[in-house]
Amino acid sequence: TTTSSATFLPVLERIAEEISHTPGRGRPADYIPALAARDPRSFGMAVAEPDGTVYGVGDWREPFSAQSITKVFTLALDLAREGDELWEHVGREPSGNPFNSLVQLEYENGIPRNPFINAGALVVTDRLQTRTGDAAGELLDFLRAESGNPALDFDTEVAASETAHGDRNAALAHFMASYGNIDNDIPVLLDQYFRQCSIAASCADLALATGFLARHGIRADGSRLLSRSQAKQVNAIMLTCGTYDAAGNFAYRVGLPGKSGVGGGIIAVVPGRCTLCVWSPGLDERGNSVAGVAALDRFTTLTGLSIF
Ligand code: GLN
Repeated sequence: TTTSSATFLPVLERIAEEISHTPGRGRPADYIPALAARDPRSFGMAVAEPDGTVYGVGDWREPFSAQSITKVFTLALDLAREGDELWEHVGREPSGNPFNSLVQLEYENGIPRNPFINAGALVVTDRLQTRTGDAAGELLDFLRAESGNPALDFDTEVAASETAHGDRNAALAHFMASYGNIDNDIPVLLDQYFRQCSIAASCADLALATGFLARHGIRADGSRLLSRSQAKQVNAIMLTCGTYDAAGNFAYRVGLPGKSGVGGGIIAVVPGRCTLCVWSPGLDERGNSVAGVAALDRFTTLTGLSIF
């Protein structure tokens, strides 16, 4: 970390100070014990610059459960491999329904609305699994490389809890399989999906790993993962679908492509400029971090940076 290019550090410090005085942080996800046990007062925020400089405030180095944030990376990895054929199997429209909802699948013949609700992510993971034989391993390698942190790993306790409480995701997978939209055996797919969700990473790790979306598709080592157009597509889907049935409000308040997870993390992209990751475990009723959304709202307000 070179302080000379830590342009936004004073803004992050101001936001952390403001958040520390804000009551009402929401409640940690309680569908598995490992998430319910996290302290809702935890707060961390990191910014990564396109050159790999990263800095932050609060608990920005503390690992947390990445959960649905990983859906961005599996989408990018699969899109890089198969291109537009993916869109025959998953849509690109906001769902307006909860992230684990089943209801739209029946009307849309087993094609999920978008890659960032659970149904859509299951399809993407299924397709990446068919192409690589180890979707979760592919994802972990990518996150390690982009973050420069070889210690990143699955959290086996979280993955086991997800499996033990996995009836809803199993139902989504079976339902889509009945329409021919799942390739792999369901237990194999679910194991891959739950391990993907379980990856533990910090704000620093995830801000760095998101960098390719600020660099228009270019990875940390300078190689290209996505075309410029594909990077735009992923950013656009984050804006419209990344925070589930609150994506409209997130776009209104923050004005950036973003993706949340029920571990309390949110990643966000300022294309061409920087990436952010904020973490605080208390969630609102839609499954988005209360302090996380508030902090990103303040960031774009204070800096004037947004895509608008
Ligand atoms: N593991 C969670 C699930 O599949 C991920 C959901 C989320 O982060 N929104 O239900």
